[in-house]
Amino acid sequence: MAFVIPAPAVPVLRVADSDGTFPVRRVYCVGRNYADHAREMGGDPQREPPFFFGKPQDALVPRGGEIAYPPATSNLHYEVELVAALKAGGRDIPVERALECVYGYAVGIDLTRRDLQAKFKDKGHPWELAKGFDQSAPISDLVPADRLGKPTSGAIWLAVNGQERQRGDLGQMTWSVAEVIAHLSSYLTLAPGDLVFTGTPAGVGAVVPGDRIRCGIDRVGELEIVLV
Ligand code: MN
Repeated sequence: MAFVIPAPAVPVLRVADSDGTFPVRRVYCVGRNYADHAREMGGDPQREPPFFFGKPQDALVPRGGEIAYPPATSNLHYEVELVAALKAGGRDIPVERALECVYGYAVGIDLTRRDLQAKFKDKGHPWELAKGFDQSAPISDLVPADRLGKPTSGAIWLAVNGQERQRGDLGQMTWSVAEVIAHLSSYLTLAPGDLVFTGTPAGVGAVVPGDRIRCGIDRVGELEIVLV
């Protein structure tokens, strides 16, 4: 038996200060996981259960760099996020075991076609095309969890053309990384290679071609993209 088309490549992330690479299976994202961002999106910052969406694995842009401004939008937004990369998975993972599933962490940007998202929300349509488009998930190298410890505090920030637009702290997450993984695993089976984007603090906004976006998370790393 032979493939009748070339097999799609598995995206891989680099591991910081290592020769190792991390093969990606699925990319999950959690919505509105910082109260101040929930408010700026017109939502209720109460502690409602987290909700999830996904991006295709080939939306990842390891190490950032040039990103083509996508079609079908005139309101492309950045959202800087901590990304957890799983080395183990399962179903119904208890919160107190969830961080044992994490291989490491990265800095990611959840690029969003905000105008399309608003239209889809109004119509009750899926968000898919507002979130899961080409190059919509730039991501840094991974830092192994054993070098970082628990991701429960640390500054998370983003600047556009040198001007700071987002600044928060991982401690402001409504649902912790462990809680996010536990919740997600109540809906489906998580597996090694899965990535989880864990939400963004307030200050999201639009960017245009020519903009240089730099972001980072304390002890995790930094990531830069340029829109072209
Ligand atoms: Mn997001």
